[in-house]
Amino acid sequence: MESSAETRPLETLRAFDLARQGWVVAFALLSVCARPLLAGGASVDASTTDAPLLRFHAREAVEAVGWQKEARARLFALMMGGDRPDRVPLQPVVLRELEPANSASRLQEIRLRTLDDRTVHAWIAVPRRPTAKVGGVLALHGHGGTGEKIVRGEGPYGYGRTLVEMGYAVVAPDIGQHDLQHTNWSLMGERVWDALCCVDYLVTRPEVDTNRLAVAGLSLGGETTMYVAALDERLRLACSSGWLTTVDNMKRGHCPCWNFPGLAQHFDFSDIFALVAPRLLVVELGEQERAPGGFPVEVGRRAFERIQGAYAVFDAKSAAVFTVHQGGHVFVGRDFWPLLRRELGVPRTPRADPGASPGQGGSPDSAKLRSLDPGHQ
Ligand SMILES: [Zn+2]
Repeated sequence: MESSAETRPLETLRAFDLARQGWVVAFALLSVCARPLLAGGASVDASTTDAPLLRFHAREAVEAVGWQKEARARLFALMMGGDRPDRVPLQPVVLRELEPANSASRLQEIRLRTLDDRTVHAWIAVPRRPTAKVGGVLALHGHGGTGEKIVRGEGPYGYGRTLVEMGYAVVAPDIGQHDLQHTNWSLMGERVWDALCCVDYLVTRPEVDTNRLAVAGLSLGGETTMYVAALDERLRLACSSGWLTTVDNMKRGHCPCWNFPGLAQHFDFSDIFALVAPRLLVVELGEQERAPGGFPVEVGRRAFERIQGAYAVFDAKSAAVFTVHQGGHVFVGRDFWPLLRRELGVPRTPRADPGASPGQGGSPDSAKLRSLDPGHQ
């Protein structure tokens, strides 16, 4: 029988919580993105061989909803300093506004307050002349990317430009930092909280239909998509590209910034994806992904089977889609774009763009050339 929070002695949890502060400090020192530190990052969870404490095990929807509530609270606590942070007034500042000649959207470089002592830098694209409210999308970049690259569609981020040119309101924060600001938080916690605050900002924009919200991202952006969709039920559709994997696989040759104390003790990534159920979820991987350091399809397929099991409990198996495309570490969106159009509508039909056609976030072939460094995704 699998372990659960109910069957694990309370003392274990208390001891873990006490040990946590020390680990946080140790991990902060290790949270520099470099291969020589991989063993140190992975050792945080090396003692864990049992099933995670909060592995999804519900058999009925009502039980699953209860598990989701507990798991979300635990994720906030583990990632963000012991509890769900209080929201603070976003105090948005527009740093710059651009109206690119080849676009029907305008771009704003913005800064939002996310905590009393923290801000996030982001870009937002909105239609220049909206005739009705439009869907809003949080679009997330990978290692080495920026929010600006997303809204401009640069490098492997053609999907960002596609979203902009489809006429959605697109918000794209910078989430790539590797310096921890709060030693009792995790890097992923700071990134995810900033991204959640960007969703808060999106729904304050007058252009946005707050019932039509989605999130999409590649690599680190796909990872952040997983957490944001798990924690924010306003998002009705998520596309996590180039990320579906297991904790075990991530310990083999990847930049350790995904890890934080308590993660592996409580969850595998399929459990975190189970927090998205029964909302629409697309996870995609390329056949040319390679281990170590990459996201092999076979590993992803096993994780997806667990995700599907959670969706089945909600009688929503078809709401989770696993796309396997022929490319490498790229965003393709083959199953995402049709679902996005269906769920958020299509404010406008984009003009042909060599880097970002309406059907795809950059064709697999063109994007392959610009995919992220496989050792630092
Ligand atoms: Zn990293």
